[in-house]
Amino acid sequence: MAAWGRGLRVLAVANQKGGVGKTTTAINLGTALAAVGRTVVIIDLDPQGNASTGLGVPTAHEARNPSTMDVLLQRASLADAVQPTNIPLLSIVPATVDLMAVERDVAAGQHRVYPLRDALIEFAAQRSGQGSDATYVLIDCPPSLNVLTINALAAADAVLVPLQCEFFAMEGLAQLVRTVNDVRDRLNPSLAIQGVVLTMHDKRNRLTLEVEENVRSALGEKVYTTRIPRNVRVAEAPSFGKPVLLYDHQCEGAKAYIELASEVIRREQQLAA
Ligand code: ATP
Ligand code: MG
Repeated sequence: MAAWGRGLRVLAVANQKGGVGKTTTAINLGTALAAVGRTVVIIDLDPQGNASTGLGVPTAHEARNPSTMDVLLQRASLADAVQPTNIPLLSIVPATVDLMAVERDVAAGQHRVYPLRDALIEFAAQRSGQGSDATYVLIDCPPSLNVLTINALAAADAVLVPLQCEFFAMEGLAQLVRTVNDVRDRLNPSLAIQGVVLTMHDKRNRLTLEVEENVRSALGEKVYTTRIPRNVRVAEAPSFGKPVLLYDHQCEGAKAYIELASEVIRREQQLAA
């Protein structure tokens, strides 16, 4: 089971392709998990800082201090950097554009190679014994298989892959699976793929359905039954600094993320059993 014992369950939300719904999934799956009573921490590991902005953290430096960068540089612990959001049980470690510099430093070997993993081990130890359910940690990865994403994979129990059903989706997925296998072999033997979630799904689009069929026949049960539909309310919500579950909890996108959360929890329970 979890590398972190029973205290934490760490899921890296990753896909090196840009704009496939990683941040949207981290925010809204996180909110849906919190809505059913789970404690959730989102770690914004993208210098774009979209997860932080989408959860209403102001962009001013003071509002994001300490940030993920400070954690990676070991200037702050995760416990210091976590800040509450407007959603009960959901907190965030915000990111700033400075995270790009960390990427260079870690790659150049100026810091410990897997600082995020070290920070999570410390965080897990601090939280052990708190409550009976694990705290979910969702890491919002940048759109690249760079040193930040490798740090997330080295630190995670499992990977959750948002996938947009478009022409090159399978190629991108194959590359990601190779990277996950590689990280598993070299660094993190228990790393698993929790699942693949189809995002911005349009059931009237023939290409979407063709790609969906290919992905499902290649990966079988790894692909969640839940599909996240393309839904304008989902896209609008971040500009109000809100998850779609707060912005319009009755829209199709919000309902889909609630369904996804129950599927994710069910898989966790199966893994634990
Ligand atoms: P990046 O690779 O840049 O980090 P990402 O993979 O995190 O991107 P998002 O930022 O979550 O992707 O989504 C990309 C764009 O698509 C955003 O403008 C977002 O609002 C929009 N989007 C995401 N999911 C949906 C959806 N289900 N319906 C409509 N729009 C969506
Ligand atoms: Mg993103």
